[in-house]
Amino acid sequence: QGPALLEAVGASTSVPLANGTWATYANLDLAASAPALRAVADRVNTTLQWYASVHRGAGYLSQVSTSLYEAARLSLGAFVGARPDDEVLITRNTTDSINLLARSVPGRILVLDIEHHANLLPWQAAAGGATVLNALPTQAATIAALEDELAVGDYALLAVTGASNVTGEILPLAQVAEIAHSHGARLFVDAAQLAPHRPIDIAATGVDYVALSGHKLYAPYGAGALIGRIDWLDDAEPYLRGGGAVTNVTTRGAEWQRGVARHEAGSPNVIGAVALATAAETLQAVGFAALQAHEAALVGRLHQGLATIPGVRVARIWEDSADRVAVVTFALAGLEPGFVAAYLSAEHGIGVRDGRFCAHPLLRKLGLDQGAVRASVGASTTGEHVERLIAAVRWLATGQPIREYEVRDGAWTL
Ligand code: PMP
Repeated sequence: QGPALLEAVGASTSVPLANGTWATYANLDLAASAPALRAVADRVNTTLQWYASVHRGAGYLSQVSTSLYEAARLSLGAFVGARPDDEVLITRNTTDSINLLARSVPGRILVLDIEHHANLLPWQAAAGGATVLNALPTQAATIAALEDELAVGDYALLAVTGASNVTGEILPLAQVAEIAHSHGARLFVDAAQLAPHRPIDIAATGVDYVALSGHKLYAPYGAGALIGRIDWLDDAEPYLRGGGAVTNVTTRGAEWQRGVARHEAGSPNVIGAVALATAAETLQAVGFAALQAHEAALVGRLHQGLATIPGVRVARIWEDSADRVAVVTFALAGLEPGFVAAYLSAEHGIGVRDGRFCAHPLLRKLGLDQGAVRASVGASTTGEHVERLIAAVRWLATGQPIREYEVRDGAWTL
């Protein structure tokens, strides 16, 4: 089990198997969405009793709601090591954050071909346009190629992923930031997959903007954040038009606020923001060292177990990446990823993701056009989940009987 404070809701949910028995759900799809932490669920429950209109009412509950909402911003800023003058915009998720920022970039954007579609399509639609550079077989060569392109092109922004949602690989952000800045570009980091696994310090690493999603960070759906420099955003058209984003409205037009309010028209998602901030605070209180140690043991065993199974290929982008978060994508020779995932679910109660992971160019590059299977681990993952997956994949690949497990009282036991 992971650190006690990181206990997730629904950790022992049972799911039906094809043979009519039940198994404890082995959720190995945390990279898609991670179950809420108990601390988050408790805080949401408490907050539900206290909320009322934010920024719009003088009543006591409105004041409480407004402070909770603003406190959530402060927490999220602290979580990513924001500079004092950075702003925290509450958004719906990473996709929303990137779409918002893309409207404000005053020039061309450089991006790699390994990105999640959320960190590609909004930039391509931005006014200044985007160049998509091919990632090369090593990180060193890829970073050198980025530097060459930044030197010859006139880029306002370099956008990279903090951790790949397909392979978990991590780029050295401080080095990338330095290169971007030396050529007059800012750096945006898609931290949807990084934030749940590694501490982020944008001030120390020189990252200008970061985006993250609550539902990948052990909070429920509906809230995310965009954190970073406000000047471009102050000059941009409001992302949403409506109440709260204006200083004065006439029948002919409006004067728009500056700062975060400019882009947050409409009644905000207070509960979502509180949930996201609570998840961030809890992860910080536990400390990433404990979480990383928990995940490293599990993901190490997963890599080692998969490596012993013939016909299994684990995807990676770079030969020299030094660090990877707990996301493992693999293909099984001769077996459809959709079949593998359906088998794991129906026969073993294991949840994984299959497909092309919203990263079609990357899957093509990896020779996985037909898709692959992704297992991802986190705070709520146990050693038993990982062993169950390895045993089931081994059975599929080799027909070797599953001896490590038996079904007892309708549940998988070691
Ligand atoms: N970027 C990465 C790296 C992701 O993994 C995801 C989610 N799969 C996203 C962006 C988009 O996140 P969301 O769906 O929460 O907007």
